[in-house]
Amino acid sequence: WLPAGLASGMLAAWGFLRVVRRHLSFEGQLRQAVRKNQFEVHYQPIVDLHTRRCVGAEALVRWRQSNGQLVRPDLFIPLAEESGLIQPLTDLVLERVCAELGPTLLANPTLYISINVAAIDLASSRFADELAHQMADVAFAPSQIAIEATERGFMHANTANEIIQKLRSAGHPVLIDDFGTGYSSLSYLQHFRVDTLKIDKAFIDTVGTEAASASVAPHIVEIGHSLGVKLVAEGVESEDQALWLSSRGVQYGQGWLFARAMPRDDFLAWLAGL
Ligand code: C2E
Ligand code: CA
Ligand code: CA
Ligand code: CA
Repeated sequence: WLPAGLASGMLAAWGFLRVVRRHLSFEGQLRQAVRKNQFEVHYQPIVDLHTRRCVGAEALVRWRQSNGQLVRPDLFIPLAEESGLIQPLTDLVLERVCAELGPTLLANPTLYISINVAAIDLASSRFADELAHQMADVAFAPSQIAIEATERGFMHANTANEIIQKLRSAGHPVLIDDFGTGYSSLSYLQHFRVDTLKIDKAFIDTVGTEAASASVAPHIVEIGHSLGVKLVAEGVESEDQALWLSSRGVQYGQGWLFARAMPRDDFLAWLAGL
C-alpha cells in the first residue's frame, strides 16, 4: 500500500522510463544500422518542365531494417541529427551514389544527383573535405553532385557560407531546399550565393487553389527570378501545377506527376525508357 501521491509519481516515472527505453532502443537500432550500412538510396527524377526531359535526380535515403521493412527518412533523420549519426549517414549516401551511379554519371555528363546535407555538415569543413576526397576517386565531374541544404542549415551562418562557397568553387551546385518554409530571413539570400532554390511542396500544393499560401507561390517564384537563380519546384503532382510553373518561368520540377523515388535499377530503367 502506497500513499496516492507516491503511487502516481511512480507510475509517471515508470511511463517516462518506458519512453526513454523505447527512444534509446530506436536510437540503438539506428546506430547499428549506420554501422552495418543498412541503407538504400532511392532516386527521384528532376525534369525540365518545358521539354520534360530528365536533368537529374535527388538521392533520398531509406532505412532497410533487419525485418525487411523500409523506414522513411522523416522518421529517422531528425533522430540521426540529434544523436550525431547524421554525419556518417551523409557519408554513406554520398558513397552509395558514387558507387552505384558512377558509370551512369560518366556516360551522361549533364546528368546530376543532388544530395541532402544537414546543418552540421555545413558547420565545419569535414563534409566538404570528405566530398573532395570522394571526388578524387571518381571520373565524373563535381558539377554532377549537387548539394541541397535547408534554410536551417544556413543558420550556422559564419561557417555555412564559407563551406558553401568552398563547395561551389570545387564545382558543386548548391541548392536551398524547402525554400520558403524555413526561417525565411530573406537577408541571408544576399549573403549566400547559391545556384538554385527548391520551392517547397507546401507552396506547390496550393497552386490553383484558394488557400492563403496560394498567393505566396507567385512571390516565391519572383524572388527566385530577381535573385537570378534557377528554380526547381518539388511535389509537382498535377499537370495544372506543371503548366502553371512553366508559364511562370520555373524551369525544373520534381514530383509524382513525373516519377516517384525509385531504387537504382528502376531509376536506370526509367531513364532508358524516356
Ligand atoms: P525533401 O528533401 O523535401 O524531399 C522531398 C520529399 O518529398 C521526399 O520524401 C519525396 O519522396 C517527397 N515527394 C516528392 N515528390 C512528391 C509528390 O509529388 N508528392 C508527395 N506527396 N511527396 C513527394 P522522402 O523521401 O520521404 O524524404 C523526406 C525528407 O527526408 C526529405 O525531404 C529530406 O528532408 C529528408 N532526407 C531524405 N534523404 C535524406 C538524406 O540522405 N540526408 C538528409 N540529411 N535528409 C534526407
Ligand atoms: Ca531535398
Ligand atoms: Ca525539398
Ligand atoms: Ca520539402
